[in-house]
Amino acid sequence: MPSPNQDDRPPDGPIDMLVLHYTGMRSGAEAIARLRDPAARVSSHYVVEEDGAIFRLVPEARRAWHAGISHWRGREALNGRSIGIEIVNPGHDWGYRPFPALQMAAVCDLCLEILGRHPIPPINVVAHSDVAPDRKADPGELFDWEALAANGVGLWPAAADAPPAGAAMALLGAIGYRTDLPEAVLLAAFQRHWRPERVDGVADAGTMARLAGLAARLAA
Ligand SMILES: [Zn+2]
Repeated sequence: MPSPNQDDRPPDGPIDMLVLHYTGMRSGAEAIARLRDPAARVSSHYVVEEDGAIFRLVPEARRAWHAGISHWRGREALNGRSIGIEIVNPGHDWGYRPFPALQMAAVCDLCLEILGRHPIPPINVVAHSDVAPDRKADPGELFDWEALAANGVGLWPAAADAPPAGAAMALLGAIGYRTDLPEAVLLAAFQRHWRPERVDGVADAGTMARLAGLAARLAA
């Protein structure tokens, strides 16, 4: 299902990020139509339907336009160095619902294949909400990042004691978030990915323990 919304990647850069999204539209067909509409100027490399069907829209060697203004671990404009996967789900605006097991299995397999083709470190397997925390909430707190990590896709925090709440910003920066945004915005983004039980932007003990646990994984 080729999309015209693509161009050359910058020369000589590695492909070292994997960014996961939800489509946030009423149906997969509607989302795919938009991702192939020249007027929309958005795309992704892949779309994964709720039944597990996978569509390729843009070859991995080309730049798909999925992340927009984005930042992670000191890098900007992440479309140039990333693979983007759109996962069909109505999203927070149209009736957010759990991602079916068949769909998650297909996402996991696709991610493992991509990780086999490119030098993408585990901390660079991220949500759109991680790289654009002030604009985006996808794929959101119902997406099972813990199961993906258990299957070798991305990182999950180690068990850790909770440091004081005053340590939150330094830990968020060490993990990869830009630190020129309000702390509550960054904490909510972190929670959507790594502490989905409660997404409220508050540095409570559970959130601080997960922050420290993820930083420990990075240091290991
Ligand atoms: Zn997105």
